Amino acid sequence: MAAAEKVPVKRYLRLAKLPHIWCPGCGHGIALQALIRAIHSTGLSQDNTVIVSGIGCSSRASGYLDFDTLHTTHGRALAFATGIKVANPDLNVVVITGDGDAAAIGGNHLIHAARRNIGITCVCFNNTIYGMTSGQYSPLTPTDAYATTAPYGNIDTPFDLCELTKAAGASYVARATTYHARLLEKLIAKGLQNDGFSFIEAVVQCPTYFGRKNKLGDAFRMMKLMQERSVPVSKAAAMTAEELAGKIVIGELWHRPRPEYTKAYDAVIAKAGGGR
Ligand code: SF4
Repeated sequence: MAAAEKVPVKRYLRLAKLPHIWCPGCGHGIALQALIRAIHSTGLSQDNTVIVSGIGCSSRASGYLDFDTLHTTHGRALAFATGIKVANPDLNVVVITGDGDAAAIGGNHLIHAARRNIGITCVCFNNTIYGMTSGQYSPLTPTDAYATTAPYGNIDTPFDLCELTKAAGASYVARATTYHARLLEKLIAKGLQNDGFSFIEAVVQCPTYFGRKNKLGDAFRMMKLMQERSVPVSKAAAMTAEELAGKIVIGELWHRPRPEYTKAYDAVIAKAGGGR
């Protein structure tokens, strides 16, 4: 296997903001590095790329990145990002969000950003819990898992955000875990190159709340579990629903280019300027 390219990760970080606040073993740092490496490999300019985040442990990432960044209100990262992209379609707009931020408070924004196929790359750091506020269950917490607000086990059925965004109209959808960091990097890079709405789910470990509440062990054990539970999308195609229960399907799940939103919006502006 070819040696991984040496990427000047520090070039993309606000070193004065470090050390970060994430717990030891948290997966957010791995996901953040995958994003940085993807930005580097695709050659996106730091001056022409805006990173937007909402609220939550994952959303602290925007503060560590040396780009134009916005740390917005809870669930509203995609709403702010939509405004930025519509105002200046030449910008590369990336959203970092978490499962609670994207699927609960910001659920509607996620659906409509996908429906419009607006040129934004959304990376959801899915730790399956609200980590920052002490471990309440989120719309991605598995059924029967424990949380501070589900002391007897979660009775809700979790969303599959990849299926949801695909059904809503996203033109690129992919998933990987922090165990598969290089795959995650490649999938984010492809999402950045897609001209439309790209949704990439990064399954990350939260040893502090999800891991401890569910007796999953430390970060190493949680990542080992991700390895054991993951199934490449090519193999998943031949598996039954029963065989796929509890599995994490990884890889490029959907890529269907279709017209990007801001181009249609520009056409409306041109039409309005010319009259009927
Ligand atoms: S609470 Fe969980 S998600 Fe938040 S920083 Fe700690 S390990 Fe990471």
